[in-house]
Amino acid sequence: MLEIKNLHASVDGREILRGIDLVIRPGEVHAIMGPNGSGKSTLANIIAGRPGYEATAGEVLFDGKSLLELAPEERAREGLFLAFQYPVEIPGVNNLYFLKAAVNAVRKHRGEEELDALDFLEKVQQRAGLVKMDESFLKRPVNEGFSGGEKKRNEILQMTVLEPKLAVLDETDSGLDIDALKVVADGVNALRSPERAFLVITHYQRLLDHIVPDVVHVMVDGVIVRSGGPQLALELEEQGYSLYGRAEGESR
Ligand code: ADP
Ligand code: MG
Ligand code: MG
Repeated sequence: MLEIKNLHASVDGREILRGIDLVIRPGEVHAIMGPNGSGKSTLANIIAGRPGYEATAGEVLFDGKSLLELAPEERAREGLFLAFQYPVEIPGVNNLYFLKAAVNAVRKHRGEEELDALDFLEKVQQRAGLVKMDESFLKRPVNEGFSGGEKKRNEILQMTVLEPKLAVLDETDSGLDIDALKVVADGVNALRSPERAFLVITHYQRLLDHIVPDVVHVMVDGVIVRSGGPQLALELEEQGYSLYGRAEGESR
């Protein structure tokens, strides 16, 4: 589903990713862990197509298509969902309307009919229940005046309504409290299926107590230095990243 080959990427002319190789198959949940500043968010931003992040070598294939050539909204229409640390506010656009437009853009792209208004509402209400979001939030402008935890809920609501093929969640440094963390985990676990994959980026192990990944990768200084099973996350929690040449919290 996602195939990253020898990816190099720069920000402001400085090379941050120095040859990333990663293959994620349908049904799999991969976690990327690593010290602060190792390039985890840069990888998420490159996958998202965020301006300012430049892939200088290598390729990223999503369902066999070259992702790097697609505009960010085209990536979303192909079934990619990116959850970020700081979700954007869209003043004046009601949350429900936004979700409907997003869902229908994906459906149209796949040649499917628009969802019936009632079916759509029912689905959103069911998913709002899953993330424990009060329905009054559906009528409010997207994220405007939402607290950090409410934005996080809303983001996971978007993910569960959009039902992406691949979701990339960058949860690093987000300072999620345990409730918000559970919302993220419940959202991911509810969507886990043989056709869908997840890339969960996290600095801390605790999220992975709730989302048990199939594969854990350790990124240090822009390269994946080790990959293993879920037990690798526990090892890292105990030993820190010092084994990999850099102490916890140390910047480069
Ligand atoms: P992580 O998510 O692992 O903490 P990042 O990808 O955020 O790491 O950062 C990796 C390096 O790239 C850091 O040195 C950081 O300062 C730099 N970097 C990332 N994004 C930007 C940006 N928008 N502008 C300048 N430097 C950036
Ligand atoms: Mg960071
Ligand atoms: Mg980060």
